[in-house]
Amino acid sequence: MMSETRSPRFATQAIHAGASPDPATGARVQPIYFTNGFVFDSTEQAADIFAMRRTGFSYSRGSNPTVAALERRVAALEGAKAAIAVASGQSAVLLVLMTLMKSGDAYVASSRLFGGSLGLMRRLDGRYDIKPQFTKGLRPEDFEAAISPETRAIVCESIVNPCATVMDLDGIAAVARRHGLPLIVDNTLASPALIRPIEHGADIVVHSTSKFLGGSGQTIGGIICDAGSFEWTKHGHYNLITDPWPDYDGLVITERFPDISFAVACRLFGLRDLGPGLSPMNAFLTLTGIETLPLRMERHCANARVVAAHLKEHPKVAWVSYPGLPGQPGQALAERYVPQGPGSIFTFALKAGEASALKFITSLELISHLVNIGEIKSLAIHPATTTHRQLDDSDKEAACVGPNSVRLSIGLENVEDLIADIDQALAQVE
Ligand SMILES: *Cc1c(COP(=O)(O)O)cnc(C)c1O
Repeated sequence: MMSETRSPRFATQAIHAGASPDPATGARVQPIYFTNGFVFDSTEQAADIFAMRRTGFSYSRGSNPTVAALERRVAALEGAKAAIAVASGQSAVLLVLMTLMKSGDAYVASSRLFGGSLGLMRRLDGRYDIKPQFTKGLRPEDFEAAISPETRAIVCESIVNPCATVMDLDGIAAVARRHGLPLIVDNTLASPALIRPIEHGADIVVHSTSKFLGGSGQTIGGIICDAGSFEWTKHGHYNLITDPWPDYDGLVITERFPDISFAVACRLFGLRDLGPGLSPMNAFLTLTGIETLPLRMERHCANARVVAAHLKEHPKVAWVSYPGLPGQPGQALAERYVPQGPGSIFTFALKAGEASALKFITSLELISHLVNIGEIKSLAIHPATTTHRQLDDSDKEAACVGPNSVRLSIGLENVEDLIADIDQALAQVE
């Protein structure tokens, strides 16, 4: 038995948190509950669950036991009070923005974000008047300078996709606190094994679980973690969280659920109303992946460092964006926030230009040409014509995705084999 007095350490939690042997059958692995509905004990219980007077399962769009196990596990790993699993990382970002804001509101967003997040933010601006206020640079001062009276939140990534820049989360959190704004951190590229943003002042953490958390590239998913720390009632701007819900008998979320208000608002509005719930099968696969997360992240970082160092010395390579190497831009922040290493996703540029970058990718044999990241298998893509093609040229430059750059996601193969594949592909380009 685990002692109640000391909470288990990270690798132990990755294996045990949120799931225990099934009380009905003794099954050691978390069962997959493939059911849409759950039989009620009584009409009173049914009414109570619908009105949020008591917790319980009713319909799997809003909650499901297998999905709940995943939510408890990720909440434990992030040090959050609660988590809400959703159908994709994209829907995690969407639900956070839609739950916090209404038309006319704005939020400060890092100018360097995953391409899908940038696309979503532009569309929400054009169609729903929820405005991203993009920062000019990545320093805490740049975030502060972008704040206006309409600002309702600050959004950034912990490690930036695709250039691996490590953000100064303590500094950005201090700006958020000074202005009474919640800080939302997309922690997909770090995973909680490398950075736990709540320890640096984040109020909400989101993930695409399609990447490192799932780990094997089998299934799409996302999750939203609520630190439970933000004082929603102090500001009067977050009316979905602080005002009565007439269709729930006047439920005031901050009064009934003071520690997990944001998570409850996300579940009621995001899952019951909008509907992008996670399948129990996908929750099961993600839970299984998380069991090996700490081990995998160690190897991902070690392999990425060797590959990045090798590329940096190669005569055909112009630059490498990995801040885990000595003398690289951003190295001090990387050392401070991610002593294990800044993940395994980074870009590098070929001296000879776009044709060489494309030829390099198609010449790879072991490393797969595909769009995902954070998988066990090593992957490569040309971001300027795919994931980041919507950016204009100056934004591409800032994001380290020029025509001559390649994004790598380094996996868990023997690093000698990765280097051999990269060397044979480089030998075929100018
Ligand atoms: C992939 C990704 C997303 C979107 O996640 P999906 O699961 O693909 O919808 C969001 N943020 C970051 C940083 C990502 O890398």
